[in-house]
Amino acid sequence: MRPDWLKVRLPAGSGFLQVKNVLRERNLHTVCEEAVCPNIGECFERGTATFLILGDVCTRECGFCAVKKGHPSGVDGDEPRRIAGAVMEMKLNYAVITSVTRDDLPDGGASVYALTIQAIRERCRNCKVEVLIPDFAGSPGALEAVIQAQPDVLNHNLETVPRLYPRVRPFADYARSLSLLQDARKGGAHVTTKSGLMAGFGETWEELLQTMRDIRDTGCDRLTLGQYLRPNKDSLPIHRYYTPAEFNRLRMEGERMGFNQVTSGPLVRSSYYAERPSDSVCDE
Ligand code: SF4
Repeated sequence: MRPDWLKVRLPAGSGFLQVKNVLRERNLHTVCEEAVCPNIGECFERGTATFLILGDVCTRECGFCAVKKGHPSGVDGDEPRRIAGAVMEMKLNYAVITSVTRDDLPDGGASVYALTIQAIRERCRNCKVEVLIPDFAGSPGALEAVIQAQPDVLNHNLETVPRLYPRVRPFADYARSLSLLQDARKGGAHVTTKSGLMAGFGETWEELLQTMRDIRDTGCDRLTLGQYLRPNKDSLPIHRYYTPAEFNRLRMEGERMGFNQVTSGPLVRSSYYAERPSDSVCDE
């Protein structure tokens, strides 16, 4: 049974339905829905969501993720315009964009990220944009294409410790993900970089700290830490629940390592209250 500190508000209310309508009218996807995020009731109710671009079918087989896996079909060229329309209608001053991983595309979908950032900027001049990007399979020029579109925050999640990559992120590469964060830091002086980890896959405390250090060594500015929650029966089991006090300790460790911002708590996800970076969330 889940501990009390993981109890969440049920999705309901007029704000929730309004966000659902905006998304359905424009035929848009969110990671909130596709990944069965526990915070969806809270985030939708306050009028926020994290847009999922490049379709809703992922080419990878990550063990923690509920997003559909398979063979995506093509690219929807009108999606950036519809996203920008939704951002405008929702009156967002901070938009978070992520995607499925598209290893079938030569640039991994980087050009669509760039087009989406541009479309939002054209229609909502003052809206900040955070992108949570995949590793683009290391495709040359892909990261640069995203950076050239000037997102305010560039996020790439490491998700777990390197020892557990074969189970948790079987087609990803720990060193490649670290390099991506490092290259983003070098290639975009204006960009704030960010990464995230989930706890509860069976990692040790020391492995978690070492992974945080590795991320910090890339020059990464912000870190999110949250509890892994099994989104469906096909996903990896939960090895253990970390307590709010442990998340608080991790936050303090991260701050000591030099991150500008560590958001740490059982229900923290990389886009949870992303628009309020000065808040440090802990449910203790
Ligand atoms: S935490 Fe992020 S993914 Fe989850 S509901 Fe909120 S905005 Fe969506």
